[in-house]
Amino acid sequence: MRSAPVRPWFTVEPIGSDTFVFSEYRHWEETHCYLLLGEARALLIDTGLGVRDLAPLVRAHTALPVLAAATHVHWDHIGSHGSFAQRGVHPAEAAWLRRFPLPLTQVRQDLTRGFHDFPSGFDPDAFTPFAGEPTCLLNDGDEIDLGGRRIQVLHTPGHSPGHLCFYEPDRGWLFTGDLIYEGTLYAFYPSTDPLAFARSVKRLAALPVTRLFPGHHRLEIPCDLLARTDAAFDALAARGQLHQGSGLFDFGPIQIHI
Ligand SMILES: [Zn+2]
Ligand SMILES: [Zn+2]
Repeated sequence: MRSAPVRPWFTVEPIGSDTFVFSEYRHWEETHCYLLLGEARALLIDTGLGVRDLAPLVRAHTALPVLAAATHVHWDHIGSHGSFAQRGVHPAEAAWLRRFPLPLTQVRQDLTRGFHDFPSGFDPDAFTPFAGEPTCLLNDGDEIDLGGRRIQVLHTPGHSPGHLCFYEPDRGWLFTGDLIYEGTLYAFYPSTDPLAFARSVKRLAALPVTRLFPGHHRLEIPCDLLARTDAAFDALAARGQLHQGSGLFDFGPIQIHI
């Protein structure tokens, strides 16, 4: 009798020869992590939920030293941070990496509140997010030189105080974390800031962008999602609704919960 094939937790998609997307489609969050290879170093943007360790997969794709950077320190973006010796965050969220101020029961509820198809042996009741020291701080305007490939750090607060986007000017590629994706954008938690969110989106919308790489959900999103998100925030501001607690608003491919 043949046993059923083991389904991988991460889906891998190459983009050209020097960029890889690792996605968690077996979970409602549908997270995406991005591995960018240069000639001398690699940048890993986010490390997933932490249901499975991402490090072996990263190692299978590169022998270069890897900087694991967090777009922000929500538990679903730092899951495998502990497996990397180099960990970068914005200074505003360094303390969150050491200890995120959310009860474990809440994290475990979030982990299981939507569709999930966990690998056998994984126990969500025992799930504990990564907590540890950052090894470097990433600030707005920093340039990460990977060797023949330059990545700019953009501080884009709003969804969280130290949220970062990563921009590759030579290609016009923008890695947007939780600031731009199709689905519901969140700016209603106490640590969010809807006005800063709107300003960050406007800043991104002014960049020459050829491709967007979101933190969640559909991977292939049109570049005009940036302008549409910007227009959505403008509409909320014009109606006096751009403040916390005003509700959930539907703008077609995106919803904004503030
Ligand atoms: Zn988040
Ligand atoms: Zn997220």
